[in-house]
Amino acid sequence: MQRYLSIFFLILVAFSEVIHAEQPAAEATPPERDPQSWCASVTRVIPQIKPKTCMASALRPVTTRSVMGRSIMLREFRAPQMNAPLVLVIGGIHGDELTSVSIVFRWIELLQQPGYDGPPFHWRVVPLLNPDGLLARPPTRVNARGVDLNRNFPTHNWLSEAPRHWKETTRKDPRRFPGTAPTSEPESRWLHDEIARFRPDVIVSVHAPFDVLDFDGPTNAVEVPARFGRLRLNRIGVDPGSLGNFGGRKEGIPVVTLELPHALEMPNEEELAHVWRDMQDWLKVNLVERPYASANGGRGPVR
Ligand SMILES: [Zn+2]
Repeated sequence: MQRYLSIFFLILVAFSEVIHAEQPAAEATPPERDPQSWCASVTRVIPQIKPKTCMASALRPVTTRSVMGRSIMLREFRAPQMNAPLVLVIGGIHGDELTSVSIVFRWIELLQQPGYDGPPFHWRVVPLLNPDGLLARPPTRVNARGVDLNRNFPTHNWLSEAPRHWKETTRKDPRRFPGTAPTSEPESRWLHDEIARFRPDVIVSVHAPFDVLDFDGPTNAVEVPARFGRLRLNRIGVDPGSLGNFGGRKEGIPVVTLELPHALEMPNEEELAHVWRDMQDWLKVNLVERPYASANGGRGPVR
């Protein structure tokens, strides 16, 4: 009898090990899966976004979740006509750049205004790619496994370049750890796959606090933007594993990166309006008025 009991006990221990291994390492399952709890938590960290505004954004969770099991939320705006140019907007790749999330919520508000008469694009908007980073206390640039998502995309020679760049150029800065393999993280893997599915004509990515506009991509395809509001073009260089490097150089999709001047303090209303207007104008000129044909796999934005 005792032997059976000890066998039973061993099975129980082994089983609990299996269960344990499937749980996220740090804390209990977070509740930020449905829009309501997600908005409640996000707006607690970013009080500039009102819970009502967040809920009114009608975000829906994508099928992939973050390392800690939180939802990655997306809002889609379809154009009335077929073949509209496709624009993918990404905020909050770095969880401690709060303004990069706030501004994307502002854009969602503008896009869903009843009288919106901007250029007819098909938008997919992801205000917060790194929910675990934003909801960490304090918020972190990296995701829950300590990976800088913006160094984790499968750029050319990632395996030789990204770890070397991290060791030598950043001197093993933990805020810039690229991970152990490209797209090792659920958040970056999802975005990588989403780019393959959506095949956007332009990717707009928002960061802070370098106060510049950056551009990666085929320069014969679109006019390199000179400025959005006060953000002026300054091509700050290419890091292995970055979204700009992956989207712009490897995939041939123009990637515009806005680096807002502050990570915690939003630009004023006038500046926000300027940035929005300049971005709309640039997208309109390049995707509607003189759509390119050679880039993006020869497809171009007019389909
Ligand atoms: Zn950033």
